[in-house]
Amino acid sequence: MDIVLKTENLKTFYVLESMGEKKVVQAVNGVDLNIPRNEIFGIAGESGCGKSTLLKALLASLEPPLQLIDGKLLYLVDGEYLDVFSLSDDKIKELRWSYISYIPQGSMHVLNPVKKIKETFFEFLESHTKRKDRSEYLNLANEHLKELGLPSRVLDVYPHQLSGGMRQRTVIALATLLRPRVILADEPTTALDVVAQRAVIQLLKRIQKEFQNTIIMVTHDMGIHAQVTTRMAIMYAGKIVEEGPTDELFAKPIHPYTKHLIQSLPKIGDKEPREGIPGSPPSLVSPPPGCAFHPRCPYAFERCKVESPEFVKINQNHRVACFLAD
Ligand code: SF4
Repeated sequence: MDIVLKTENLKTFYVLESMGEKKVVQAVNGVDLNIPRNEIFGIAGESGCGKSTLLKALLASLEPPLQLIDGKLLYLVDGEYLDVFSLSDDKIKELRWSYISYIPQGSMHVLNPVKKIKETFFEFLESHTKRKDRSEYLNLANEHLKELGLPSRVLDVYPHQLSGGMRQRTVIALATLLRPRVILADEPTTALDVVAQRAVIQLLKRIQKEFQNTIIMVTHDMGIHAQVTTRMAIMYAGKIVEEGPTDELFAKPIHPYTKHLIQSLPKIGDKEPREGIPGSPPSLVSPPPGCAFHPRCPYAFERCKVESPEFVKINQNHRVACFLAD
């Protein structure tokens, strides 16, 4: 398996200081990931588990109060792994959008509301390519939209003139304009209706298939993971607790938290109320000792309260951090 992006014991915390008091939010707390080339990799978990912070870390976009505490981030560029946090800011800037790009949660954060969309495309191309000609930019933007099956008229309107779904698809087109090898998508379907969600999902699948790149998608929506991703990692309290092929995780979840996430999904024809996960996610300022899931876990026993479980390999592609896994 060709690994296009890796992390080794990655720790990124928010370090907040106010009136002499220091508060540390352990948002990403020792994450090891090996993301293969040419697939859609999902990261799931409840709000506040560290998923979006993990994406920021993967983009090497750490702005105070978010800090790198420990660990490595490695990108496979021209057959070599680059230790990203040891690179200069200029080199990281060069890699961003050409090697790795980012689709944020809200399309309005990206598109300037007072400019026609083509201006945002031009500004993007101007700051990330050496070309200078507006007609060349326009051709490039038009070609790319055509490739993605989007109408070129979107370039001639203001963001508010597009529906939420079309705006999000336009942002996806912008983020993929330079053909990045890795695309990070943060809740790309949130706040969209079901029809718009489907269009966004189809677009992401089409991009992955046509450009043979890797998409790392964060969403709390397990239904979207089931439809789109090929592998997934389940995150809880800043750590990965289970990782494996998506169909295997849905067919045979092993970690009690994964089981809860899957059981709480509605099923067609089943009118029984779904059981939510008892309790709420822990504070990342002072996560529980031992296995962080123990206060909510129906199977917790004494060891879980004091010791953090290591990963157990279920098979070559599937690992679980739970004492009961084997
Ligand atoms: Fe539950 Fe213990 Fe497994 Fe954690 S290690 S998920 S508390 S059984």
